[in-house]
Amino acid sequence: MASVSQLGYVGIGTGDEKAWHELATNILGMQVIPGDDRSTSYLRMDECHHRLELRSNGSDDLEFVGWEVPDPATLQRVAQQLEDGGVKVTPGTRDDADDRRVVDLFTCVDPNGIPTEVFCGRPVNQQPFHPARPMSGFKTGGMGLGHILVYSASLDESVRFYRDLLGFRVSDFTEVRTPERKIRLAFLHCNPRHHSIALLEAPGPKRINHVMFECNSLDDVGSGRDLCLRRGVPIGIDLGRHMNDHVVSFYMGNPSNFALEYGWNGRTIDDTTWQVEHYTSVDSLWGHPQLRELVTGPASQER
Ligand code: FE
Repeated sequence: MASVSQLGYVGIGTGDEKAWHELATNILGMQVIPGDDRSTSYLRMDECHHRLELRSNGSDDLEFVGWEVPDPATLQRVAQQLEDGGVKVTPGTRDDADDRRVVDLFTCVDPNGIPTEVFCGRPVNQQPFHPARPMSGFKTGGMGLGHILVYSASLDESVRFYRDLLGFRVSDFTEVRTPERKIRLAFLHCNPRHHSIALLEAPGPKRINHVMFECNSLDDVGSGRDLCLRRGVPIGIDLGRHMNDHVVSFYMGNPSNFALEYGWNGRTIDDTTWQVEHYTSVDSLWGHPQLRELVTGPASQER
């Protein structure tokens, strides 16, 4: 089956673009690229024109997600898979593609209401990427910008969309039982990165829970954490190492009030040998003291 190959870009709506720019440059180490109009700007983290698009519309949520495919033929095949699966697909116009700095794209909506774009042909920026603060850069390339964790009304429907129509493979399923309820998550990959999307079956305050960026060095994570502490950026989940993707990370707040996971040394997946894993807890190998609360809520802290 045809498959998307990486998380290409995300669009974020914000009520405070300036605060985002400060976080992006001073803490994350990204470059700010001005947009075509005053209400749009871009964040660059590698050789691509951008990986994040900021829109000053006050939504403070995920506006759209862009999944890349390797070539125009795959773009057509993925569109056909979606249509055969009953998903309405809208071809992008020339203007849409120009706005995103891509050659071609189509749009659809995922089962959670997230505007979803599938695109091919992303021009590279001729200028080398220089982090805006001293750090060693981001692990992206063919593994995409990182990962997103989004809230899902129905895990089964979402898995069907991402696995059976967009071509993702399941990395693991997590099922956490609390006295009140059962919480399910699915982690899916479309390249060697352990997951490019994770789905949390729960009502969320927003579409998005967090975006993860993978740094090239542990020192980048440690120095980023120091900068958060020094500049008063809230750390929602402190340092730890995840059980499933092995990422060493912490989670910082952002001006749009969801989380950014800043990590290092994620596990990679070889599809020829991977066995889908099953977890009954979200606890980390070490650290991440506030992680369980994120998933199960404060009421289940003592379990
Ligand atoms: Fe994560």
